Amino acid sequence: MKDTKLSRTLLQGLTNVAAHIPDSMFLSMVKPQVDLIQYPDARDFINLLLLNFKRQYKRLAPAVKKRFVENLFGNAMLFASEKIHAFTDTYGFIPPSLTVISPTFRCNLKCYGCYSANYAQDDVLDFNTIDRILTEGKQYGMYFAVITGGEPFIRRDMMKIFEKHNDMIFQVYTNGVYIERDNLAKDIVNLGNIIPCFSVEGFEEQTDARRGKGVFQTVMALMDELNSLGGLYGFSATATKENNELIVSDEFVDFFEQKECFVGWYFNYMPIGRSPAIDLMPTPQQRHFRGERIRSLRKTRQLPIVDFWMDGTVAGSQGHACLAGGRGYFHVTASGHVDPCVFVQYHTDSIMDKKVIDILRSPLFTMIRKRQEEYTNLLRPCMVIDRPQVLRDVVASTGAVPSQGGGWETVTTLGPRLDDYAREYEKIATPLWDNEYKGPKETGTEHHIGNGTAGDYINMFGDKVKKKMLHT
Ligand code: SF4
Repeated sequence: MKDTKLSRTLLQGLTNVAAHIPDSMFLSMVKPQVDLIQYPDARDFINLLLLNFKRQYKRLAPAVKKRFVENLFGNAMLFASEKIHAFTDTYGFIPPSLTVISPTFRCNLKCYGCYSANYAQDDVLDFNTIDRILTEGKQYGMYFAVITGGEPFIRRDMMKIFEKHNDMIFQVYTNGVYIERDNLAKDIVNLGNIIPCFSVEGFEEQTDARRGKGVFQTVMALMDELNSLGGLYGFSATATKENNELIVSDEFVDFFEQKECFVGWYFNYMPIGRSPAIDLMPTPQQRHFRGERIRSLRKTRQLPIVDFWMDGTVAGSQGHACLAGGRGYFHVTASGHVDPCVFVQYHTDSIMDKKVIDILRSPLFTMIRKRQEEYTNLLRPCMVIDRPQVLRDVVASTGAVPSQGGGWETVTTLGPRLDDYAREYEKIATPLWDNEYKGPKETGTEHHIGNGTAGDYINMFGDKVKKKMLHT
C-alpha cells in the first residue's frame, strides 16, 4: 500500500472502528491476513496481540494510539513493502525487520548471570551513531527497534532518540528503576512510540532475590502508572532451572494479564556473560515443558506471550526460527561492535566505520544466514544451545572475536556440555516437530495454510509478493 495522507487517515479511521466491534467480527475481518501465517501457534499469537490492542485501545492516550497505528501498522507493516522490495532486488536477500541496539552496558543492578555484564562499560555508541543506524535501517523498511543493554534509561539522551525517530516503534527492555527515578512515565506516554518491557524473574521474592530489594514493587508501581496514563507496556522473564515452571504458571500469567500488560516475552537463560553457568539453564525437559505451557496458555488467556527460543514458529523470520545474522535482526553493542544476535556475542565489524548494509553483507552475517537454511526444525533454532557446532564453524571460518571480555567459552570450554545439552533436547524436539508440525504441513492439512512465521507478519501485512519470497 502507498504511503499517502489518505491511507494514513483511513488506517486511523479503520482502527477506531475496529476497536468498537465485537471480537468475533474483528477476528473474521483480519482472518485472510492472519491465515497467511503458516503455523497455528503463530496465528494464535497474532490474533491475541491484535485482540489485546483492540481491547486496550479505549484506555490508550492519544499519542500512543496515533504512534502505534501509524508507526507499527502503517510504517512497519503496510508502507515498508516498497523499500523491502527495493532492498531485496538490489542485494538479493530480504532485509531484517528490526534493529536491536544496546546504547549502554552500564546498569544500576548487578544481577547474577546477567548476559551482558562482561561488556565494556564505556558508551562508544553516541547519539549521532544511534541516529545514523536507525536512519539507515529505515531506508530498508526497518521501523521497529528493540533497545536493551545494560539499563537503557541510564542514557538520558535516549528519550531524545525516541523523539527524533517518532515514526518508529521502540520496545525497550528495562529494570524500571531509572524510569521511576527520573519520572519518565509521562514522557514515555506523551511520545507514544515506546513500549517498556519490564524484566521480572517471577513474583516479588524471585525478582528481588536476583535484582535487588524493592525492584519488583518499583515495576508494579510503574505498570500501574503507565496504565493510568494510557501507555502500553509488557514484561520480560528469563527462564532458569529455578523459575522455569513458576513463570509459565497460571498464577504468573494471570497476574500480568490483570496488570493489563500488552505483551509478555520469555527468554531462556544462556550460558554467556557474567559467570556463564550451564547448570542454571532450564534442562531440556524443563525447556520443553515451558514451550508446551506457553502454547497452551495462548489458547486460554488474553495476554499474548511468546518465547524467543521455544516459539520459532512465532518469533522467527522469513520462515526460519533463528533471527540472527540479519535474517530478522542484528545487535549493535555500546562499543559499536555488531553481533549477529544478542546471544551470539562475536563480531567481525564495527558500526563506527561501516554502514549497516556493509555489515549485513559481511562474510559473518552471510554465513550465518546460509547455515540457517539447514535448520528445518523450528523448535531447535539456536546456534548457541541447539547447534553449537554451527557456532564453532562460523566463528572459526570468519575470524569473529568475542564482543564481551573473556567470551570464548561458548566455542571452547563449554563446548562439550553444550553438545550434550543439544543432543538431549534434540531427542524431545525431533519427534515433536515431526509429529505436530512437519507432518501436518506435508499432508496439506489446516496446519499449512500460509507461509512464514508470525515474525514475518510485521512486513507481510497486505504484501502478497513478500509471501512468495519466503522460504518454508
Ligand atoms: S542464535 Fe539463538 S538466540 Fe540468537 S536468534 Fe538464533 S536462535 Fe535466537
